Amino acid sequence: MNIIMLGVPGAGKGTISKELHEKYNLPHISTGDIFRENIKNNTELGKLAKSYIDTGKLVPDDVTINIVVDRLKREDCKDGFILDGFPRNIIQADGLKKALSANNKKIDVVILVDGDVDKIIKRLSGRRVCEKCGTPYHIETLRPKVDGVCDTCGGKIIQRKDDSEEVILDRINVYNEQTKPLIDYYKKDNLLKSVDGLAKIEDVVKQVEDITGLR
Ligand code: AMP
Repeated sequence: MNIIMLGVPGAGKGTISKELHEKYNLPHISTGDIFRENIKNNTELGKLAKSYIDTGKLVPDDVTINIVVDRLKREDCKDGFILDGFPRNIIQADGLKKALSANNKKIDVVILVDGDVDKIIKRLSGRRVCEKCGTPYHIETLRPKVDGVCDTCGGKIIQRKDDSEEVILDRINVYNEQTKPLIDYYKKDNLLKSVDGLAKIEDVVKQVEDITGLR
């Protein structure tokens, strides 16, 4: 099953994708994670991506599309994948469609992780992540067992620079201008289904399972 997770930053796309990856072994392809990994390793891609990410802007489309198309060619994607945070505009969606159809593949479903934007912003500004493995936490609702230490790998828990209040607003603006039009784009293709991103994670995962037939 080839799945796209769509939704405003902080809606929970990453958390849901991680759960699905663990349960069904579908590769979880997060362009944000790929960029952050490259920034950490100080690669050429990381150097390029950093200035965009730190200001909440989109990394250029050609770079981003190439990364995803290359990733999708890997063996582990042959029986399906979850795209999280890609595509983020119409150009990327067209690029993806073209690349998939060249390989006789297509997207099966687009899950819109929906919810009240004010509540999502509040959740986003309280979000923390493990610096090492990316496990998400929240200062109020999802605290680690030991303060500042990741339950999964023992790594340090930090706030992403782009989860600061001013960058969050820029990211939401970029979403409204560039990513939101994808809702109609995928509605036209009859692929769009919505889930409630503010529900409990196990309930959202269940909603996705009902939609996709994954069990
Ligand atoms: P995310 O973790 O998905 O919220 O992404 C964090 C940041 O990475 C975004 O604010 C962008 O700067 C960049 N990014 C992630 N995915 C994309 C994409 N598909 N196209 C361009 N930039 C992206």
